[in-house]
Amino acid sequence: MTAATTAAATAVVNIGSLVTNDPALGDGPLGLLADAAVVFEGDRVAWVGATGAAPAADTAYDAAGRALLPGFVDSHSHLLFAGDRTREFAARMSGRPYTAGGIRTTVAATRAATDAELAANLARFVREMLRQGTTTLETKSGYGLTAADESRALRVAAEQVAGVEEVTYLGAHVVAPEYADDPAAYVDLVTGEMLDACAPYARWIDVFCEKGAFDGDQARAVLTAGKARGLTPRVHANQLSYGPGVQLAVELEAASADHLTHLSDADVAALASGATVATFLPGCEFSTRAVYPDVRRVLDAGATVALSTDCNPGSSFTSSMPFCVAVAVREMGMTPDEAVWSATAGGAAALRRTDVGRLAPGARADAALLDAPSHVHLAYRPGVPLVAEVWRRGERLPGAGGN
Ligand SMILES: [Zn+2]
Repeated sequence: MTAATTAAATAVVNIGSLVTNDPALGDGPLGLLADAAVVFEGDRVAWVGATGAAPAADTAYDAAGRALLPGFVDSHSHLLFAGDRTREFAARMSGRPYTAGGIRTTVAATRAATDAELAANLARFVREMLRQGTTTLETKSGYGLTAADESRALRVAAEQVAGVEEVTYLGAHVVAPEYADDPAAYVDLVTGEMLDACAPYARWIDVFCEKGAFDGDQARAVLTAGKARGLTPRVHANQLSYGPGVQLAVELEAASADHLTHLSDADVAALASGATVATFLPGCEFSTRAVYPDVRRVLDAGATVALSTDCNPGSSFTSSMPFCVAVAVREMGMTPDEAVWSATAGGAAALRRTDVGRLAPGARADAALLDAPSHVHLAYRPGVPLVAEVWRRGERLPGAGGN
């Protein structure tokens, strides 16, 4: 296929190792190509192949033998918040265990923040993620916990901050402090007035199904109400203990079940048999000193696996997908190829997107160039800022350069 001449075309040439995530284009599940080129035309990928066969383009970028991969797809983050929890983290690293209750600290600060402060905070994290190669991201509400505070956070994400494409209503993050003695009344609010206020700004509905948050029956009520309003479920499942979250997610055809730190054999079988993507959040176990889940077991069962940051001020304050890839490989039994696939194509699957997470003709022109000869360096060189350039919608971002 040749690049048409209607939109400005950029050829990225001399790519030492190209991850396409399209097995029809190259080797293995990553569709790897050596000595490759990619042509972006407008905001789309127009051509992929050998550098020597690349069609003429308006401009050329010489990758000089470095690795190019699809931009990361971060399918799980909590960036609509204000305040700081440094002291809580320091206390936890001094021996205090993590519980779901810390969320309420951020709720007070978030309610007190202005719309402009929430938008500025979110925009800062979106830029931070872009610099690290994340070109598609999801983010959630969940620190307002009133109809007005949840809906205004989602409105800020949907209308005021560019680059946030996937917005999730998480009124059921934790029971609001005002309802501590009457959780059933809070579930009524989340499935009633709050849902009415939030649904216009969100594509997804999520629930923290966990001891200390919402039990299986409450989570079912929340997700069922959301589905009735046209939202698609996602579930915070089995993070702190075994529980009904995974089974509920699969039964309700959630797009993803996330965390999955404690999985029974039946949970693994359910994830392998259904369409729900198993999303692992290595930053969370890292930052809470929790036991890592064995992703190998889930992969070997045949489930689709995604990796995400879970970026949030309480349990995982990293916005770095490269960091998550490295931890998933070192601590969770994934191979480098599997982790990179899960951080790109896996994230896209968790968001039910086919336009991102791959570099093939027709896909969106979102890519990250590494200052390294291979994507394996993401795990091999942990903590090193390897992302040298980022293209989003075909535009090379200023300031992304790591060298
Ligand atoms: Zn989360």
